[in-house]
Amino acid sequence: MKILVPVKRVVDYNVKIRVKPDGTGVELANVKMSMNPFDEIAVEEALRLKEAGKAEEVIVVSIGPAKAEETLRTGLAMGADRAILVETDQPVEPLAVAKILKGIAEAEAPGLVIMGKQAIDDDSNQTGQMLAALLNWGQATFASKVEIGEGSAKVTREVDGGLQTVEVKLPAIVTTDLRLNEPRYASLPNIMKAKKKPLDKKTPADFGVDTTARLTVLKTEEPGGRKAGIKVASVAELVEKLKTEAGVL
Ligand code: AMP
Repeated sequence: MKILVPVKRVVDYNVKIRVKPDGTGVELANVKMSMNPFDEIAVEEALRLKEAGKAEEVIVVSIGPAKAEETLRTGLAMGADRAILVETDQPVEPLAVAKILKGIAEAEAPGLVIMGKQAIDDDSNQTGQMLAALLNWGQATFASKVEIGEGSAKVTREVDGGLQTVEVKLPAIVTTDLRLNEPRYASLPNIMKAKKKPLDKKTPADFGVDTTARLTVLKTEEPGGRKAGIKVASVAELVEKLKTEAGVL
């Protein structure tokens, strides 16, 4: 079977985010961008399934600006076979992303779509669920273990305070949680090879999807700064303050 892995180009998780002066969003100029960390985990899982003989082809897909090609090349350097870039300079909301992915899934007929549980820029946690609904496929979200069987997948999910194991019929959507695996680094020879792997370019219009935003961001705020601490004179005073001021004892 084929595995489709949607990967989003986001601000690198190590970057200290700065809010734009007009509060309409975060500063993206001259900021390091990388593959969304949950999507790296999804690529890794797809590659492991291929290496275990459960899949024949891994296709990475990204919807975003021309520079999202770099993100796709990272996926190709990790080991994906080919890539699809759906190019647009507009920010694309999860529903429109899901509609485009539906078009790609219908054209490619993958046995599995494995993707991040959330993109760390907008923290939406919506795209996988919407895609499953649009395709009328089963879904297993927040996966920490994936086992492919005959026509179905057994997925262990991280739920509050424990783990749940579910079985879904294939084709299905699986979204990845942090503990599913540790993604590999691309080696230099593989980075070179990735430059020659096939990358197909499309636009949202090819899938008949209108990407006009439905939401307006009213404001973006930085987290409040930490207040300065104080020095206490004794352990007794510390315990007293924990009881009366912090309410932790
Ligand atoms: P979200 O619903 O925005 O939190 O994103 C969840 C997952 O959907 C991400 O981890 C990606 O796998 C996928 N996704 C979201 N936006 C895009 C995009 N523009 N291009 C490719 N995949 C995306």
